[in-house]
Amino acid sequence: MAEQSVKTELMQRLDEKKDRMFGIRRYLHAHPELSFKEDKTAKYIQDFYQGKDCVIRTNVGGNGIVVTVDSGKPGKTIGIRADFDALPITEETNLPFASQNPGVMHACGHDGHTAYMMILGETLIEMKDKLEGKVVILHQHAEEVPLGGAVSMIADGALDGVDNVFGIHVMSEMETGKIFYRPGNVQTGCSYFKITINGVGGHGSSPHKTKDAIVAASHFVVALQTIVSRALSPFDVGSITIGNFDGKGSSNVIKDKVILEGDVRSISDEAQETIEREIRAKLNGISTMFGVTYDLDYKNDCPVLYNDPETTEFGIKVLNNTDIPELTGVEMCEPQPPSEDFAYYAKERPSMFFYVGATPENGKAYPHHNPKFDIDEKSLMISAKAMGSIVVDYLIGK
Ligand code: MN
Repeated sequence: MAEQSVKTELMQRLDEKKDRMFGIRRYLHAHPELSFKEDKTAKYIQDFYQGKDCVIRTNVGGNGIVVTVDSGKPGKTIGIRADFDALPITEETNLPFASQNPGVMHACGHDGHTAYMMILGETLIEMKDKLEGKVVILHQHAEEVPLGGAVSMIADGALDGVDNVFGIHVMSEMETGKIFYRPGNVQTGCSYFKITINGVGGHGSSPHKTKDAIVAASHFVVALQTIVSRALSPFDVGSITIGNFDGKGSSNVIKDKVILEGDVRSISDEAQETIEREIRAKLNGISTMFGVTYDLDYKNDCPVLYNDPETTEFGIKVLNNTDIPELTGVEMCEPQPPSEDFAYYAKERPSMFFYVGATPENGKAYPHHNPKFDIDEKSLMISAKAMGSIVVDYLIGK
């Protein structure tokens, strides 16, 4: 079985590059950039591949970079994706390589994704004569904000010729050494809405001459609480949050206008649709009840992330049949609450997105997007070996 010896060589080469891999992660960690503003990071990635035997496409849908490794032989094309943007967070880790950009931090591990992917990419380029088909490396900008880099990169042809896509997220709160996966719907869909309730303002002494926007908006917020409990099946879950209720005014003035902003999450596209429909119905009801009008801006920011069962089964089979020394287990996990714009690739191609445990060595795991967030760098080597094994078996496994 040729693929076994290719995987063994791949892992040896990755081991030899461990210090460089961690060095890249630390450099990126010290130099984080916000979504859509990752110009220096994009340049850094681009420079890394320059002069190597691959095709580099820059500015794909923005700061995205697509690197194609062509074995020169016919075969399938596998897409592998790593994101590289950071967050508007002030780092509090005290790491020697902590952020040097005030107010910006790699607090989701995208520095790790990019570092493992660059070193894996370089290694696949070195070994491409032993492969068949092509590897398309998707270095994606702007994962953290809607609509993010996945949408624009796809629109700019990033998936042209790609058959299947694989992606990894390192997870600070999952045990280092283990890989977790789940077929089917695995991360929530996410929608945003902004509502303006328009009433008729007036003097606090004359409510009969007004249409009180605060009263109407308050009833609306309460009515929203029945959507998950009454409109969703007991087998479905969802969450609706009003995070902004802007009705600031004066004690003796009846408000003419209230602005609400909110967030919707659920783990099925059907539930996302039901919730939107119910929000619109509740608004129509409030409008009739209180004689107000409304403006609604409803945006579906990210679909539910769906892991294709067949593709996921393939990936898990590879991980279970490959000897990755650092890997201590491959386990099924629960769906994950955050949304992830890898979902857009998964809408276009049968895909698999999985998780690599990354709890720091001291056992103290802070959640993603926390100012003290950190990962065990061992997770980068596991990511590189796991993804590398999937690439090898996908392209030349029999
Ligand atoms: Mn992330």
